[in-house]
Amino acid sequence: MIINTLGASGLWYTATVVNMPDWVHTRVSKAIWDFLWNGKTELVKRDTCRLPWQHSGLSVVHPLEKSRALKLRWVPPVGDSTCEKKWVYFARYWIGFSLSCRMKGCAFVRSNEVPKHLGDDKPPIYQVVLTAVDRIGVDFDLLSDHSVKTFYSRLTPPPPQRLPCAFRWERRFDRSFNWDNIWGNIYGGLSTNWESDIAWRIAHGVVKTRAYLKSWRRLAVSDLCAGCGELESISHAFCACHLVSPVWSWVSTLINKLYDNPIFLTNPIILLQQGLPQGKNFHFSNELSSFLIKLTLNELWAARNLGTFESKRPSVQTIISKIKARIRHRILAAHHISHGPDFSKSWAHRNVLCSYHNNTLTINL
Ligand SMILES: [Zn+2]
Repeated sequence: MIINTLGASGLWYTATVVNMPDWVHTRVSKAIWDFLWNGKTELVKRDTCRLPWQHSGLSVVHPLEKSRALKLRWVPPVGDSTCEKKWVYFARYWIGFSLSCRMKGCAFVRSNEVPKHLGDDKPPIYQVVLTAVDRIGVDFDLLSDHSVKTFYSRLTPPPPQRLPCAFRWERRFDRSFNWDNIWGNIYGGLSTNWESDIAWRIAHGVVKTRAYLKSWRRLAVSDLCAGCGELESISHAFCACHLVSPVWSWVSTLINKLYDNPIFLTNPIILLQQGLPQGKNFHFSNELSSFLIKLTLNELWAARNLGTFESKRPSVQTIISKIKARIRHRILAAHHISHGPDFSKSWAHRNVLCSYHNNTLTINL
């Protein structure tokens, strides 16, 4: 994610060697959350956003825990009697004894031949390391590895068994879903992260439809669709509204070219990408279907916003043309990056969106 790769990367080098002061943490956090929600109300709990993608989150980093995890990288060499780097001797002097009470491998520093500090007045950076070691909660030998990633996942809350949004969707469709599969498929595949955000919001049930806003703000605002006057729930805005169904009919003809057996675009397929045929044989077809569905969800939402806020709802034909233009643009971009067999296997699968023969790309839209 942009926040994690660009925004905070400069910070992490510093965080390995110095303590993160509270004001830095506050400022970095504010910047991250403002960026994520565009400075508006946060609609999904921070702890949920911090979870990895495959567990319903956005992998938003917790700066304080990340800086602690980075410092924990120091600990294994301190407990490694063969490590003779200079800094390790300092670290053993300050925290070797305390560590030896928490980690079996560190027992050798208890020897009288190893100089050690035995008071409580350690430099703060070492105190931070010790606190983090305690928070890990188990002997380091019991961890699968000593990577920052492993430390970080032990320092941050584990994913909850079940999120409220999962209950709501299951009640809504009166069936259960494989949520690992849903969360695992939201990001990645052929869609950009930007294109996938809408699927994440829908799965969390936090798209600002009128019904959502009304339940959320409890204000006397209308909860009816600006296009047709029915209750504007998420299902309505993206599937049921008679203004969107012709767009799905068009998408459906495209998607049906990707499979031998007919695919009926149900609401769970559209909203949660659940219900496409399972199995390796369908991998490329399903990837393209998910891509098309997410692209369409974005365009439908953009059209809905134009209609709701500016009374300029685009026609079905305009929406379809925009989707086609986006598909073309994405194919050309993908082709530009790589036009080897990978491109032809995914984007040119069954020659539905494009064909690729003798190094010639033909877009079939
Ligand atoms: Zn409507």
